[in-house]
Amino acid sequence: MPYLTQLADVARRTGHPVTESAGWKTRGHGPQPEVQGIVCHHTAGPPGGGDYPSLAVVRDGRPGLDGPLSHFGLGRSGRIHVIAAGRCWHNAPSTSPLHDNSSSIGIEAENSGSQPWPEVQLDAYRSLCAELCVEFGLPASRVKAHREVNTAKPDPHSIDMNDFRAAVAVLITGGAGPSWTEEIVKDLPLIRLGDDSYDVKTVRGCLFARGHVPPTAYAGTTAGLEEWLKSTSCDSGLVELVRGFQRAEGIDDDGIVGPGTWPSLLRV
Ligand SMILES: [Zn+2]
Repeated sequence: MPYLTQLADVARRTGHPVTESAGWKTRGHGPQPEVQGIVCHHTAGPPGGGDYPSLAVVRDGRPGLDGPLSHFGLGRSGRIHVIAAGRCWHNAPSTSPLHDNSSSIGIEAENSGSQPWPEVQLDAYRSLCAELCVEFGLPASRVKAHREVNTAKPDPHSIDMNDFRAAVAVLITGGAGPSWTEEIVKDLPLIRLGDDSYDVKTVRGCLFARGHVPPTAYAGTTAGLEEWLKSTSCDSGLVELVRGFQRAEGIDDDGIVGPGTWPSLLRV
């Protein structure tokens, strides 16, 4: 996965004001390897000082931790600051493999850590998470508080994350327009024999979820199914499973995952 240069467009879909921080499209600790989750933070910044006084810290870092610290900042007014398109140092060590720095997007919302949250800021927070879920094909359950995926963190304070996720889930399904499947398929590559990429893992996961991975497929691997699912290599065994799936779905069984096969694999 490259730098996530679509993040400003995703933010604008919330309807809340967006500020693009100069240079954000190339800012990051290298590109973002993948997006499997979203982590919500509070800045623990000053209680006053304007709408988003923590911008410089989130962008540039602090002593002992280089910036960027998060992809997004969220002001008290609901204004969304797009800060980085690459990997950010916002959650380490993570207790969830789907929410570490290489696998997740971070949002740093301005709050001292004890002051009340303005409703407009919470509204923008939920909307941004929902739009990110839509963009990256994630369920609302992948939205986590920092305190839920790190043992030493309290943020974001006083937000009931079950209520928050329920509201995000409604936003994900409530909008009209093309489904996330249709949107995401446009950006997915062809996967064929010999390829090696993170998208191969998606193919493996979808085949498994659809019941097209018999135990014999991973019997030869030392760690079994888990290792099989993590492999980024499109080998001949995987191609045969793709062919089987295609035949079951009535798709031309060429063993290549492309525009004709991705929608069936991703169907929810
Ligand atoms: Zn945090």
